[in-house]
Amino acid sequence: MIGAVDIGGTKIAVGMVDDNGKVLSRLESSTDAAGGYANGLARMIDMLRRTSRDAGVEISGIGIGSTGVVYPGSGAFGDVDLLPGWQGNNPVEDLAREFEVTVALENDADASALGEAGWGAGKLKSRLIYVTVGTGIGGGIILDGQIYRGVDMAHPEISHHVIDPSGPDCSCGYRGCWESLATGPAMAAWFNTNSAGDRGSPKKLSAVQICQLARCGEKLAIRAVEREAYYLGLGVANLINLFVPDVIVLGGSVMKSAALFLEGIRKVIRQGCRFVPYEKTELALASLGEDANLIGAARVWHHRFKQGVNRAS
Ligand SMILES: [Zn+2]
Repeated sequence: MIGAVDIGGTKIAVGMVDDNGKVLSRLESSTDAAGGYANGLARMIDMLRRTSRDAGVEISGIGIGSTGVVYPGSGAFGDVDLLPGWQGNNPVEDLAREFEVTVALENDADASALGEAGWGAGKLKSRLIYVTVGTGIGGGIILDGQIYRGVDMAHPEISHHVIDPSGPDCSCGYRGCWESLATGPAMAAWFNTNSAGDRGSPKKLSAVQICQLARCGEKLAIRAVEREAYYLGLGVANLINLFVPDVIVLGGSVMKSAALFLEGIRKVIRQGCRFVPYEKTELALASLGEDANLIGAARVWHHRFKQGVNRAS
């Protein structure tokens, strides 16, 4: 039974996950990063004890998925935007000491990729890329069943590959990154700017509301959806040209409206991936539901400590 810890910028979720990826109990609390790491750690420990008691199980290992930058090798937090002041603290060492079990840590996008590869839409696929599209874009790359890491075990940042160098400024320093053009807020910003020109000063709509309007046939909303599908498609097509994976698993809040985007994404892929067997790369939707982050965090432990048993073929 694996204790799973999902550390995000707004909340920390904890749960017990069995060997089939089923969540047996869960609790969450606000992250309260400003309250300090020691306080956050104390709540993680308390929630791990309570969820194991609720499920009536003993914890045999702990897996952590965290918003990044994190160092999977040492188990320490890097300079994480959403966790100011937590840098250098080491939840792997601290939880291992407290519970006397093995503990593993990964970036949360890598954790979700491992979850989908182990128990979800990418099961039994050897080459998988997971992409989550919401307020940001995140991703994890699995090659030959192993999480792909760069030098110093670095997590590659697929959201900061440039789609349009004349596009909007990005937090990273470039212009027109995938993340600056294809997130939910980017779609909403384009729609709201253009609808202001059309109709005076209407209220600002969210990506979810724009998708609803598009389903009702509203013209500008349909254009916003087409534009979103085009930018999503460019990024996905680049990943196919670079990696030709077995499957690209698409998750995140924007992908809850995937039916609106998939044909547009496929069209862009057909236009520009002709030198690789793109038709063999499956586009799949993330399948682990609302507990995907916890399930992914549990899978981090399996990937690290049960490699021989669970490795994808
Ligand atoms: Zn960027």
